[in-house]
Amino acid sequence: MTVHAASAEIASLDTQFADLDLAGRLSLAATLGRAVFTTSLGIEDQVITAAIGTHRLPIDVSTLETGRLFKETVDLMSETEERYDITIHRFHPQQDDIDAYAAKYGLNGFYDSVEARHACCHVRKLIPLAKALSGAEVWITGLRRGQSGNRATTPFVEFDAERGLIKVNPLADWDIDRIKAYVSAEAIPVNPLHARGYPSIGCEPCTRAIKPGEPERAGRWWWEGDEKRECGLHVPESPNGAQATENAAQPVSQASFAASPVR
Ligand code: SF4
Repeated sequence: MTVHAASAEIASLDTQFADLDLAGRLSLAATLGRAVFTTSLGIEDQVITAAIGTHRLPIDVSTLETGRLFKETVDLMSETEERYDITIHRFHPQQDDIDAYAAKYGLNGFYDSVEARHACCHVRKLIPLAKALSGAEVWITGLRRGQSGNRATTPFVEFDAERGLIKVNPLADWDIDRIKAYVSAEAIPVNPLHARGYPSIGCEPCTRAIKPGEPERAGRWWWEGDEKRECGLHVPESPNGAQATENAAQPVSQASFAASPVR
């Protein structure tokens, strides 16, 4: 299997993944080429990291250390590394890029316009992501169909033509209740912010707690008002560094989410 797999082969793989458990899906993904899992330390990502660590799978675990993360997220990195005896590779933005961004937009200029926000995500996330995926043939993510309307058709396997690699979403068919049950059963460490109403956690200045009944990702870049918003990691970038927006969403009960076990 090469990264130039034909669409028919991708479809065949997608069918194979559907019949496997999580460890089986990750194991199969690792046979397709050099595999990198990018984690944001969110609850679903912790499930994948736990499986990689527990089963000692040959998959690199990487994260985008944007410099604007919550302390709780940074602390969870170390806790997770110790718990599973793994290394989470941190990819940071370049200081020159941050300086140039701050000079043009202001350090927190992302509040002022969608363009400025996309530019910040480009510097702090997309450029480091490209480094994290350098040399990878398989990109593993924690995308789930239940996270948003735009992600409702997320396949197990797809070909990322922009990056030229196979993208594997082993939790595509897991809903949040299944995630929480797995975390509880396996005593997986998760971000304590989840219990405070943050089902989706990104950079601190761009994430708020959600209200009961709001979609899981409603607390991300909430000021933009657009119900279709992403950071660009999972949607193609346009030539000017901005990216297509997306979303619509499936409501989640904050009370239900906050009841999930946290450590
Ligand atoms: S989420 Fe906010 S702080 Fe983080 S990279 Fe994007 S705009 Fe910048």
